[in-house]
Formats: sequence, C-alpha cells, structure tokens
Amino acid sequence: MSNTSSAPAENSSSSSGHSVVRHDWTLSEVEALFQQPFNDLIFQAQLAHREHFDPNQVQVSTLLSIKTGACPEDCKYCPQSGHYNTGLEKEKLMEVQKVLEEARSAKASGATRFCMGAAWKNPPARDMPYIIEMIKGVKALGLESCMTLGMLSEEQATELAGAGLDYYNHNLDTSPEFYGNIITTRTYADRLKTLAFVREAGMNVCSGGIVGLGENERDRAGMLVQLANMPKHPESVPINMLVKVAGTPLADAEAVDGIDFVRTIAVAKIMMPASNVRLSAGREQMSDEIQALAFLAGANSIFLGDKLLTTANPEANKDRQLFARLGINKGHDWGEQSAVQPPEQCPIKAMYDAEKSNDHYYDAMASQSDRNMAGHG
Ligand code: SF4
Repeated sequence: MSNTSSAPAENSSSSSGHSVVRHDWTLSEVEALFQQPFNDLIFQAQLAHREHFDPNQVQVSTLLSIKTGACPEDCKYCPQSGHYNTGLEKEKLMEVQKVLEEARSAKASGATRFCMGAAWKNPPARDMPYIIEMIKGVKALGLESCMTLGMLSEEQATELAGAGLDYYNHNLDTSPEFYGNIITTRTYADRLKTLAFVREAGMNVCSGGIVGLGENERDRAGMLVQLANMPKHPESVPINMLVKVAGTPLADAEAVDGIDFVRTIAVAKIMMPASNVRLSAGREQMSDEIQALAFLAGANSIFLGDKLLTTANPEANKDRQLFARLGINKGHDWGEQSAVQPPEQCPIKAMYDAEKSNDHYYDAMASQSDRNMAGHG
C-alpha cells in the first residue's frame, strides 16, 4: 500500500528542463556548493525552491513525546538516553486517548501533521497494538501521522504502513565517517536498513541530521550526499541545530554559526529541491532573522508548539507573529505543499531567464554549474 499522496512529486527533470533531481552527487561537488559566496548559494537555493514550492508557504507539524527517556541508545546529544543523567523525568508509553487529545489540540492550533516520538531502540512487540491505535486515531481526526520509534524490522514497517502511517522519521544525524563519535550503540548501516524498510513499505521518509555535533563542513556535505543519493529522496529532510542539554556529552559543544546553519539548509534544498526541508530542533535559540534566512534558503516546514519532544521550541504565538512579519502562509492553510509550482509561475526565475539573453549579463549560475561539473569529473 502507498501513503504517498501528500508527498511532493519528485521529478527526474522538469518539463522546461530547468531542474533535474539528481541522485549522483559527489562529495567534492557538495563541498563546492558549501563554499560558494553566501548570496550565490541562497539565490541558487531559492530558485530551486521556487521551481517546486510556493515560497511563501510553510508546513506546520506538532511533535509529541509518547514515551520519554530511558532509551538504551547512547546518542551523545540526547537527554533521553539512559546513558546520561540529565534529570529528565521518564514516562512510560502514553495512553492512546491522551495522545489523541493532544492531537486534537494540535489540529486546533493549525498543525496539519501530528508527529509522535518514542525513546526506544526498537518498538517493543507488546506496544505495537497501542501504536497502531494511535495512528488510526490521528488519521481519523483528519491529520497526517508521523512517528519516530527507533529502528524497525521489515514486519514492523509493513504493520505501520498498513495502519496508515504517512511518515516515518529516522535521522542519519551526520556523515558515516563522523557517526561513531556520536553514537556507538548502533551503526550507520542499521539506520539505512530501517530507512529502506520504511521506503519499501510505502511510507514517506523523513530523514535528516543535526548541525553542531562537532562535525566539520565535509561531514555536513557527507550526510547530505547520503540522503540525496538514496534511490528516492526523503520527502521530508529535517535539519536540526544542536540543542545543548546539561548532562549530555555535548552540553558544552561549540555554538553553531547561524550563517553556517543556513548554508546547510540551502545546500540540502539545492540537492533535494522537491523535498520539504524542515527547520527543526534549535529554533528556540535562533533569531527571527536566522529563521527568515532559513526560509529564504528553502526551509518550508517547522514544528509548532512550546516543546520538541523534551526540549523547548518557540511559542506558537511567536511563530504566528514571525509568519505575519514575513507574509508566510497568508490566506493559506498550514499544510504541506503537494503541488509542484510550475517554473513559469516564478517571477524571479522568469526575470533571471530574460536577463540571460542580455550580452552583458554575468551568469553566476552557469559558472557555478561549470565548477560543479569539474568537481564531478
Ligand atoms: S536520539 Fe532517539 S535513539 Fe538516540 S538516545 Fe535519544 S531517543 Fe534514543
């Protein structure tokens, strides 16, 4: 069965020939993207974004922790890991009715997707019937459903898909090379295996990573290469900024430069232009201006609400004010965009195409793609 009706279309090429969704990125090409002047990078990302999406619409999800803490994994950034003492109050799996109450209130606040996260290595068999009830209940409310429950077996992925789960989140976190510095209790290959099961079961894939783990630019590029070279791009690509939590090994990690963070969003958008790039954890510590730049770079999805699993998130009203200041979601609902905006409707793209015929016009885009091809060589 397939639950992909709400996902944006992934084109191998647009009818006008402007955009090709690629799956053969090389690390050197991606590093060259990161190293562009910021304005060139953002311009290129915004053009890619406009070919597939309304640039003034941002999808809104709500995330609820349905089982908190005591996770056997040792992700060095995570307050829910049982390996670290962060003072987090552990909670068993929430009752189904309580989850559905939260889903109702998320819908009333404008969310169109309800994401549920459980701190597990794998979902225990005894809890699967409750998980299935939650999915069905959330769907019955007219919301899209998303879950993040750790690693899945092939059978579990099939079961979740059968219940109607729209999205499964499983992040790669960082590059394969840096991964062992952050997590030792499972391998990169384990992550990729779960993602393959999710894809085969017909669910939409939500997978991204975290900026600020101590990784370098090459690791950021390496993570994006992994995501973009999958046979099908994840429909949703969350890019998180590390939230430093006291008691975790990364509590004193060096702060991420906001511009570097926005660069990661922009490169993700250029590489996966038809995917929803999600501005995820870490928004609480971002200025409105950095968030605005992230939207300009092609981020078009956020979490709403005052809590992201266990860490703070900007209050919903603050988000509404920011959206109003930026003219985002004016006269739209807050749902994910499924339609691909035809390139000819994009005024900036049209202007760019018209200018290209002028002899005095310096084509920075073409010169960039030459550099990229050289890297590809
Ligand atoms: S990130 Fe997920 S898997 Fe890792 S410790 Fe936290 S809850 Fe467990």
